[in-house]
Amino acid sequence: MSSAVSDFIRNRIRDDIENDVVDDSIVTRFPPEPNGYLHIGHAKSICLNFGVAEEFGGKTYLRFDDTNPLKESEEFVESIQEDVRWLGFDWEDRLTFASDYFDQLYGFAEQLIQEGRAFVCDLSADEIRATRGTLTETGTNSPYRDRSVAENLDLFRRMRAGEFPNGSRVLRAKIDMASPNLNMRDPVLYRILHAEHHRTGDSWCIYPMYDYTHCICDALEGITHSLCTLEFEDHRPLYDWVLDNISINFHPPQIEFSRLGLEFNVMSKRILTSLIKDGHVEGWDDPRLPTLSGLRRRGVPPEAIRDFCSRVGVTKQANLVETSLLDFCVRSTLEDTSPRAMAVIDPLPVEVINFDDDDVMLEAPNHPKVPELGHRQLSFGRNLFIERSDFRETASKKQRKLTLNGLARLRYGFIVECVEVKKDAHGEPVELKVRYVPESRSGQDTSGLKPRSTLHWVSSANAVSAKFRLFENLFNVREPGGDDLGEELNPSSKIEQDGLVERVVVEDEWDRCQFERNGYFVKDSDSTSTAPVFNRIVSLSSGIR
Ligand code: ATP
Ligand code: MG
Repeated sequence: MSSAVSDFIRNRIRDDIENDVVDDSIVTRFPPEPNGYLHIGHAKSICLNFGVAEEFGGKTYLRFDDTNPLKESEEFVESIQEDVRWLGFDWEDRLTFASDYFDQLYGFAEQLIQEGRAFVCDLSADEIRATRGTLTETGTNSPYRDRSVAENLDLFRRMRAGEFPNGSRVLRAKIDMASPNLNMRDPVLYRILHAEHHRTGDSWCIYPMYDYTHCICDALEGITHSLCTLEFEDHRPLYDWVLDNISINFHPPQIEFSRLGLEFNVMSKRILTSLIKDGHVEGWDDPRLPTLSGLRRRGVPPEAIRDFCSRVGVTKQANLVETSLLDFCVRSTLEDTSPRAMAVIDPLPVEVINFDDDDVMLEAPNHPKVPELGHRQLSFGRNLFIERSDFRETASKKQRKLTLNGLARLRYGFIVECVEVKKDAHGEPVELKVRYVPESRSGQDTSGLKPRSTLHWVSSANAVSAKFRLFENLFNVREPGGDDLGEELNPSSKIEQDGLVERVVVEDEWDRCQFERNGYFVKDSDSTSTAPVFNRIVSLSSGIR
């Protein structure tokens, strides 16, 4: 019953168990609305709800909050299940939908009416808003507030029977139009919506509101700790009011924690939806998005996301987390598990002018510190490629590059000396001529030479063409989400380069790997390109993403 992790929620649960407020079985739920794909903010809630249940030997429901048929769909229901599973959590047989409880929810609404605690209101949505008051002014009672129980019951049943058009009437709780809490000013419980629901079809034309639905579902499922984000703090009195005023013998406590925010990213499903609709990104799984499907396509392992969520922790403080923390978690997950190879993203041809034989085969470990990852053969021959940015005509103190008349070691290969640069009409290098030092073979070096730089490279015989997609933050601003999203977008968030990669990576279908000095990469899942496409998951140095 003990747990290594400590935060205010886990402490509360420990106390509740100790004081017999709950029996030993903790029950939590993750309650997404199926109106979009999950993002890393949801991951925080998933890790918390499923994590707490795992740690305390409890259970977790995956419950879809499907009360708004206009925005919800089966596609979202499926993607959410896939993402929760991918993160490594299992709801077993506890997959539920708010719509499973529509009959019971309706029954409780009739009960509220019968006890004079709810009424049918004919004001329009605008009129309800206008009479709701403000933080400084009380609201005014609806002229329909004092309808008799019989009239309310009749009207509510006719609402259900489909006699009235959308928006013509609602069911409201009768609480207090002068409450300092706006959520308690006779909130709407049911609205008319003649819309096909993805699960209940056209059985219903009235739908319960979130605040009414959520607490009842929690109670029906015996949720012992209803964990939600801080924006629901002001809704808690309504959560409690509903449960206190219907005949239900279970009352979960609602406990709020702060939402996760990630710098240079948006989490709002509304904004994510519009980014996709307006074509700023290619879909919910665009590798630049903080969606779980985007992160998966980007190559981020689920373990890294779980590690990230546990490092972020659970508090009530607003948190806008730096992207470098996520990058750190990704690198540390991949560091000792990913094999390494070489890829040249922006190739500059190199001719080894004193190499006349057939290619020699060199052996290279797939990881310098993890022998279990094996080794591979590299061929070294007359025609090679290095990274364009690894050559500079004249030496500079700071940069470790190959220079004209300078030396560099080719990783796992030989030391070379650049003896000539061929340039195009603009003075840009188009080919290097180098001499290799035969006695400098890696592992058997007797040359006594100590070049400052070691470069990655591929040989013409051993390389295949590939595309590399390099990603930067999607937004240029730390907290995007202003009026003009287009203005906040980073125009170079995705760069595609044609380069070369060691053949073995493609032929042996390596999954995630490190391309030495260039970062961690993953083969993109569905590409229309004939050449293989590699997404950069993360670069090797911190600060650059
Ligand atoms: P959005 O406002 O983007 O539409 P939402 O909160 O309405 O998101 P839901 O599908 O209702 O999305 O969320 C399901 C659960 O995930 C809720 O319990 C919610 O509190 C939690 N959640 C959503 N976003 C975050 C976040 N950024 N950090 C932590 N938890 C979150
Ligand atoms: Mg929500």
